[in-house]
Amino acid sequence: MMIAPVGYRVPRSVDAAVALLREDPQACWLAGGQSLLSAMKLGLQAPSRLVDLQALAGLRGISSGAGVLSLGAMATHHEIARDVRVREALPGLATLAQGIGDAQIRRRGTVGGSLANNDPAACWPAALLALGGRVRTDRRTIDADDFVGALFETALEPDELIVNVEFPVAVPFVYLKIEQPASRFALAGLALARLSKGVRVAVTGVTDRACRLRETERMLDARFEEHALPAEPVEDIGWLDDLHAGGDYRRHLCGRLLRRAVRALGDGARR
Ligand SMILES: Cc1cc2nc3c(=O)[nH]c(=O)nc-3n(C[C@H](O)[C@H](O)[C@H](O)COP(=O)(O)OP(=O)(O)OC[C@H]3O[C@@H](n4cnc5c(N)ncnc54)[C@H](O)[C@@H]3O)c2cc1C
Repeated sequence: MMIAPVGYRVPRSVDAAVALLREDPQACWLAGGQSLLSAMKLGLQAPSRLVDLQALAGLRGISSGAGVLSLGAMATHHEIARDVRVREALPGLATLAQGIGDAQIRRRGTVGGSLANNDPAACWPAALLALGGRVRTDRRTIDADDFVGALFETALEPDELIVNVEFPVAVPFVYLKIEQPASRFALAGLALARLSKGVRVAVTGVTDRACRLRETERMLDARFEEHALPAEPVEDIGWLDDLHAGGDYRRHLCGRLLRRAVRALGDGARR
């Protein structure tokens, strides 16, 4: 389907970008366009105007310091996968970014766009939840547990702009996924982090949103051992049953991914 004519603006500052959305509530931020343009082609979204974030230097860049890894909202998956600070601070995040889509999607798609879009099979929301990360916007800081909502929903206001995303560094962390072969989104994805405050486990692709497995977290806090786990997660999270896979199979996959993830971190490796 062809995209209908649409306005296009390229603001030079965050304030100008926010002002453009306030003056036209039907306008929409444009990051890499990897989700938005597809939604427009399918007729699922019809913004009056695209407000392109490409020129906002404040949304770019990756930095690490004071125990925090900061990814600019416009950092692409490709940049994150290759960045030496990410590889040193949280190598599991670099692996996650490298596993997204194909080369074109990784070069255009952004961490901010992925989190704002909150596809229920996306990788970034699960990593954000497992690491207890924070989303900084033009007006506030939102903790991971408050940010991620149901299917394509987040805590963001319609005119709220993600500026960067922060993760704690040097945390044993791993993200594993079984890909849906056509899209490479997660058929089942699992993120596991061993924070000083406790273990956090989040899954994606297996229910209507990325979510934590809190009972599993309690088990792993008590005994961080693969063999202490049941074969499958005990949580009833409304396991997704669709044309790609049944709910029982997704639950089974998460059990396998969890064991692999515990083994990976139990080995002492910081992936
Ligand atoms: C075939 C395919 C496979 C994919 N596989 C995966 C995968 O395996 N794992 C995964 O995690 N992702 C996957 N993705 C998604 C990819 O990661 C993109 O990041 C995602 O599509 C968002 O695209 P984008 O960054 O270009 O944002 P856009 O498409 O430009 O924007 C998406 C939405 O976010 C809003 N937005 C963008 N930036 C901001 C911001 N800074 N603040 C507030 N709102 C903002 C936009 O207004 C829009 O509503 C895949 C995508 C495709 C097309």
